[in-house]
Amino acid sequence: MSTQELIFIILLGLSFGSFLNVVIYRLPRGESLLIPSSHCPKCRKPLKWYHNIPILSYLFLRGRCAYCGEKISLQYPLVELLTSALLLSLYVKYKPLYGWLSFGFLSFFVLILIAVFFIDLKHKEIPDLLTFSLILAGWLFSLTGKNPLGLTLKESLISSFSGMGLLFFINEVYYLFTKRDGIGMGDFKLMGGLGAYLGYQSFYNLLLFASLIGVISFVVYQIYSKFIKKVSFSSEDPLKREIPFGPLLSLSALIYLFNPKSLL
Ligand SMILES: [Zn+2]
Repeated sequence: MSTQELIFIILLGLSFGSFLNVVIYRLPRGESLLIPSSHCPKCRKPLKWYHNIPILSYLFLRGRCAYCGEKISLQYPLVELLTSALLLSLYVKYKPLYGWLSFGFLSFFVLILIAVFFIDLKHKEIPDLLTFSLILAGWLFSLTGKNPLGLTLKESLISSFSGMGLLFFINEVYYLFTKRDGIGMGDFKLMGGLGAYLGYQSFYNLLLFASLIGVISFVVYQIYSKFIKKVSFSSEDPLKREIPFGPLLSLSALIYLFNPKSLL
């Protein structure tokens, strides 16, 4: 692994992260991903190429639009850095042993999950385009025989459907006790995609991680809003809010990808 290779992957990750920012903003709003070119969401002025360089432009513009001075969300450089860091880790962990094709399919998995994480967190929905691509890519991946987890096409197919079935079952149980749905349709399809890539062997870990992260972030959020931001919950019971299951599942899938079978 040469230095040039690593630099190439870092830059590749930054550019994919930049594209993910477009996906995260436009896909849930039903806008085209390609046209028009990037513009400021406030003043709608099209950005120049040098306003679009990952990280650097954000620092250079000090986090504000070059035209109207509107604050640019910290999420933009964050997504770029995160994407780059994850692709680099994937490359170091999987490319030497499993080759470029494997790295490509796994990168696609990571990119989709980053998009799902941020879109579901904000809009509480997961676009079908993302979940269906994930499912299809997972099946195709196992067909190539290059999945590091050793999944065959048959296992990948079975895992997709059992993943969706499992969440459906959990939702039914949840409904039985609370008389409302806790898990959305997007989550079922997402679990299908995770099954296609990671196999049903991962389900135990995925759900365990997701619940753990869910509980921890709930507690942290409670403390934050009670003692730091002082938001009052009197009008609304926080437990009655929908569970953001997509982000939790995406996060646990990423943990599993880098550390498979860790808790079994
Ligand atoms: Zn502007």
